[in-house]
Amino acid sequence: MARKTIVAGNWKMNMTPSQAVKLCEELKDLVKSDTVDVVYCVPAIDIIPVVEAVKGTNVKVGAENMYYEEKGAYTGEISAEMLKDAGVEYVIIGHSERRDYFKECDCMLNKKVKKAFEAGLTPILCCGESLEQREMNVTMDWIRLQIKSDLVGVTADQVKSMVIAYEPIWAIGTGKTATTEQAQEVCKGIRDCIAEMYDAATAEAVRIQYGGSVNASNAAELFGQPDIDGGLVGGASLKADFGKIVNF
Ligand code: PEP
Repeated sequence: MARKTIVAGNWKMNMTPSQAVKLCEELKDLVKSDTVDVVYCVPAIDIIPVVEAVKGTNVKVGAENMYYEEKGAYTGEISAEMLKDAGVEYVIIGHSERRDYFKECDCMLNKKVKKAFEAGLTPILCCGESLEQREMNVTMDWIRLQIKSDLVGVTADQVKSMVIAYEPIWAIGTGKTATTEQAQEVCKGIRDCIAEMYDAATAEAVRIQYGGSVNASNAAELFGQPDIDGGLVGGASLKADFGKIVNF
């Protein structure tokens, strides 16, 4: 079965609740699509107003992070169950900014992935290499390590339903996009890794996005690659251009 393209916006730490509602209104007609799944991954405080603002549209709401514990004394954290109850369907796990600035390790991300599934959320699991790693020719070794560690104990059926985002760190927010060949090569490498860990059917089903300076002019070529099933989009998801990316 053909995989459905999925384009998700990562708003990062942008948009106050009132700005968020305004943006949803501005993008509403531009992001309409029958063929592409559209997700807005928004800051925690924007979740409730955004869920309300996109009601009746084709847009689904995602969170940018979550904690793996059920509840209790974890000041400042938000649980998977809280997200689910608020109307969230997707959650970004392991974005490079969280791995880097907040020191989230693969062991923690593995717990988050499993907890997200338990709560009925779809993880968008991020992976990607630094420029130094690319230059040392260890890109695929590094990414395979991330994928294998983050998916310990995750079943084939769960993997079939999830999303993996390949985001080279050097391409995020830099305006420097990976070449189509580089992006396709790594996304295929991730699919091969899933086939080795699970089976061919699981590898065939899992959706793999590319992320890193996706914009209205490079989306079509990137998303047209055989192993790239859409994108995780930062900067350009906050502008009307996001509509062009969805309808690439
Ligand atoms: C991201 O935040 O995941 C991202 C890819 O950002 P940008 O599109 O701005 O590079």
